[in-house]
Amino acid sequence: MTGHKYGDTSLKYIQVDNQQALIFSQTDIPEIASDECLIKVKAIGVNRADLLQRAGKYPAPVGESTILGLEVSGEISQCGKDVSKNHLGKNWQLGDKVFGLVAGGGYAEYVKVKAAQLFSLPANFTFEQGAACAEVFLTAYQSLFSIAKLKNNSNVLIHAGASGVGCAAIQLAKAKNCQVTVTVGSALKAQTCIELGAESAINYHETDFVSWSKENVAEGFDVIIDVISGDYVAKNINVAALDGHVVMLAILGGRFCDKLDVAKMLAKRLTLSASTLRNRSDSYKAELVASFIAYFYQYLVEGKIKPIIDSIYPWRDVEQAHTKMANNENIGKLVLVVS
Ligand code: NAP
Repeated sequence: MTGHKYGDTSLKYIQVDNQQALIFSQTDIPEIASDECLIKVKAIGVNRADLLQRAGKYPAPVGESTILGLEVSGEISQCGKDVSKNHLGKNWQLGDKVFGLVAGGGYAEYVKVKAAQLFSLPANFTFEQGAACAEVFLTAYQSLFSIAKLKNNSNVLIHAGASGVGCAAIQLAKAKNCQVTVTVGSALKAQTCIELGAESAINYHETDFVSWSKENVAEGFDVIIDVISGDYVAKNINVAALDGHVVMLAILGGRFCDKLDVAKMLAKRLTLSASTLRNRSDSYKAELVASFIAYFYQYLVEGKIKPIIDSIYPWRDVEQAHTKMANNENIGKLVLVVS
């Protein structure tokens, strides 16, 4: 990638050109609303959604920045006049180190963020660690707790356990003393999940997770987090527990499922949910962030849960990061550093 000169009122950002290549470009620094802060971006979390958006398959929600990027860390460089106190009970100040969720615009030197979607960067965190938290921990928290109402000591199955979302979900479920099983595509990924606390990691290239589960978790899984879908939907129904809850978050394995056994769903009184985070309302996200902070922010500060980072790249090497993710080679998060 090549850089351009930029002036005081413009920012450098990563643009998708009409060949779907990534190039540096310039645009105006966004104007903030009264409930927003402008963040000078230091690091950016890479997400699958970025790859999809780049390919033209996941446009930004209406009214949001069309620049890639769903999460950042950095420093506050402007505060809107109605920005309220932060979760530490203090007014946000210029220069405060933060991380947070954005609906778009993260692959840039500056991005505007709803103040209610910002977290104070824990003192012992690097910007890279901050940039690896918001999307995966909020997604996992939303899925396990807001949607599936996970109870302590439940049996949980997490597909793609070594993914960014998977690594976060394992840690949150373990914090509630759950027994966690994951499916993964390699021995190294299995090992990482076990190190994060999962009791069992099934390599789906070698072992059928339905047969394994029938033998080893006879009562079934109370909560299943699934980013694969496709033929996993029917399989999940097979291994779910009575009153189980399956939460579908993505369609990495396909959008259609051949056979759904509704009789089995009835017998097990199952709930199947599907959810997204990006297109939720600002008020929903603000509540989700506040709730996560109430229950888990201190866990982050104390290192009881942590961002799992596979690799960190200077943002000029964004192509390498996208290629690694597209090839399913990352364990945990990929992060870009803005230089
Ligand atoms: P990630 O770190 O890139 O990990 C995805 C992993 O999924 C891959 O490394 C691969 O691991 C596995 N995988 C991919 N294709 C597969 C297939 N066909 N069959 C089985 N496993 C497959 O992804 P992430 O950032 O955690 O996100 C995971 C998914 O959730 C993405 O699709 C993302 O867009 C979505 N997401 C949804 C929400 C929401 O709110 N709905 C929020 C965030 C993310 P293995 O090698 O183990 O197979």
